Amino acid sequence: MELSPTRAEVNVAHLRQNVRMLIAHSGEAEVMGVVKADAYGHGAVRIVEALRNEGIHHFAVATVPEAIRIRNAGIDDPILVFAAPLPEYLPAYVAHRLGVTVSSIPVAEAVMRVARDVGPLHVHLKVDTGMGRIGCQPDEAPALVRQLERAPGVRLAGLWTHFANEDGPDAEAQQAQFSAFLSSLGGAPAPVHMHNSGAMLSGAHANLPLRDSLVRLGLALYGLTDPGRHPAAEGLRPLLRLISRVTHIKSVEAGTPISYRSTWCAPNRTRIATIGAGYGDGYPRLLSNRAVVSIGGHRIPVVGMICMDMMMVDLGPEGCPSISPGDEVVLFGEGGPTTAEVAQWANTITYEICCHLTARVPRIYVET
Ligand SMILES: *Cc1c(COP(=O)(O)O)cnc(C)c1O
Repeated sequence: MELSPTRAEVNVAHLRQNVRMLIAHSGEAEVMGVVKADAYGHGAVRIVEALRNEGIHHFAVATVPEAIRIRNAGIDDPILVFAAPLPEYLPAYVAHRLGVTVSSIPVAEAVMRVARDVGPLHVHLKVDTGMGRIGCQPDEAPALVRQLERAPGVRLAGLWTHFANEDGPDAEAQQAQFSAFLSSLGGAPAPVHMHNSGAMLSGAHANLPLRDSLVRLGLALYGLTDPGRHPAAEGLRPLLRLISRVTHIKSVEAGTPISYRSTWCAPNRTRIATIGAGYGDGYPRLLSNRAVVSIGGHRIPVVGMICMDMMMVDLGPEGCPSISPGDEVVLFGEGGPTTAEVAQWANTITYEICCHLTARVPRIYVET
């Protein structure tokens, strides 16, 4: 028996279905499963296991500890760490056989030293073609490739870049710059990867002279890409549902203030339900007085400030008599508002909504 009202359901059958669609869509390129930030809140180890069962054998995370958690679960596949490493982290890459992002000349030098003195390193050279975050400059890259190729203990395992915009002229300019770099090498001496979910689904991937060997997919695996924007995303299904339960119901008179700072007062006699979830679970406080939830198929508005552990909704003057304490509430996901709607109400993107689910919310894996 669950002794707390809130849970996140993760539908593994939807994941399997999404993976099959995306593998079909990615053509010759292999899918690299992006499972940073605990697989966007879905639970990295479980997601990696499900992805492996579907034939995915490349993974990426943001940080070394995220990668070590996956290794410690007994998973032996290549794991790339996206972040620019600080030199003192490099021995951990050797010890756990992690792919290291080389993002500058000083990092390349540190990597070559560690590969010679400590142990072998798998290197993915990151070129900044316009994201402006990490990566060596395109004019430095060819010389770095040559040096890394010759360095004892270094295996050049990837050449990559990352788009700031998934389509449009800026993405095309980035692609052109990356292709020019690859041509200057006389072809790619290592696997190439540049596309994330949006960039792949926008179709740019299909028309390149030098195609990806890998596509780095996160959001699409989790079924959260926008099918309005990417027709190719049609049919991908979200895995995640945030569910809570009604814990208290009362009737209030017109004028009764609800929650901290009394930002909402009942306009008439009405029935108010309290739900056992709040921003302490990762349901954004910015949704106060803005969101709706779903109870028994009714869309019910959130009223008053969302608290850390509770929130209130207005059942209306008729009071939805069928709703009673213990009833399930869908905060987002199938059967309720979409994650995209919630993200829009909270002035953010779906990525942030799922990453913000907190540790106290149990992840429950459902298979159908
Ligand atoms: C997070 C990330 C991805 C995955 O992006 P999605 O939009 O979730 O597919 C790919 N590449 C890099 C470098 C990333 O940081």
